[in-house]
Amino acid sequence: MALADELCALQADTLASIEAAVDTCALDQVRISVLGKSGSLTAYLRNMGQVPKEERAEVGKTLNAVRQTIEQALETRKSALAAAELEAAIDAAAVDVTLPGRAQQMGTRHLINRITDEISEVFFGLGYSVATGPEVETDYYNFEALNAPADHPSRSMQDTFYVRDLSGDAAAVRGESDVLLRTQTSGVQVHAMEEQQPPIYVIAPGKVYRRDVADPSHLPQFTQIEGLVVDKGITFGDLKGTLDFFCKQMFGPERKTRFRAHYFPFTEPSAEVDVSCGICHGEGCRFCKGTGWLEILGCGMVDPNVLRYSGIDPEVYSGFAFGMGVERIACLKYNVPDLRMLLEGDMRFLRQF
Ligand SMILES: [Zn+2]
Repeated sequence: MALADELCALQADTLASIEAAVDTCALDQVRISVLGKSGSLTAYLRNMGQVPKEERAEVGKTLNAVRQTIEQALETRKSALAAAELEAAIDAAAVDVTLPGRAQQMGTRHLINRITDEISEVFFGLGYSVATGPEVETDYYNFEALNAPADHPSRSMQDTFYVRDLSGDAAAVRGESDVLLRTQTSGVQVHAMEEQQPPIYVIAPGKVYRRDVADPSHLPQFTQIEGLVVDKGITFGDLKGTLDFFCKQMFGPERKTRFRAHYFPFTEPSAEVDVSCGICHGEGCRFCKGTGWLEILGCGMVDPNVLRYSGIDPEVYSGFAFGMGVERIACLKYNVPDLRMLLEGDMRFLRQF
């Protein structure tokens, strides 16, 4: 019987395809092509009506047997493939402990913070403590109490960011605001003298702001560390000894210091401190502009007026103050030619420290 042979061949072909299916998806394609709506076996089932009546029972039996055999084979193959796929998925998701791990990028401290800490450590060793104050300051603490009266050139609009009062205060709108971004951390000294009685040994690290255009040696925002000592019997010798010790701790014991007379409104006498050039050791080179010296900080004996402003009797107490730019110290220590490099966020530069 031709039909029986056809069905036998169809069954054999289908079983071979089922066996050959590599995954559940391919297996499903086989199922659809045979048992689907327009599948090859479905076509036979649909055409049962054309089979002569007397053969119909026999053909139906054969068709059912073929369908059952195929369905059985599909089911068996499906379970086998599903199990293999699950195993593969588990394998793929497994952690291979022999693979090298993904390295976490460790951050480091920024050079400015590190140098700030290094400077602070030197003074902690000498018994100083840290004093902090607001970055938005009043005219009184930033200038007046530091002996810089209203007509003093350091108060100029040119180098100060005044904060406009948004309440619409007429004086503020005219630019006569007495609130500003501090131009120096010296205001902290005034707060310290108001809040505590001598002896005072404090350093005040913090950000300060000036209306400067950024260039290799100026930044509109930089970090300053100021120090203040007020005690009985403090002399210029104490100031020199302290700062010489600091420079040797910071730059190395072979470095020399020198004090040049200078002017600051809140100290008298005042000096600028230079440290011998670390590149040419005082011979003179491009880095020190041929002088053999690098200017690192300003200092002086606290002006009696400043003590008096804060209610400290200058007949009993004396003191000294000093201030330095952290970015400048960082650049001098690591021979960085341009202050702006510290703020550019270039990881190739920053990772070196
Ligand atoms: Zn030099």
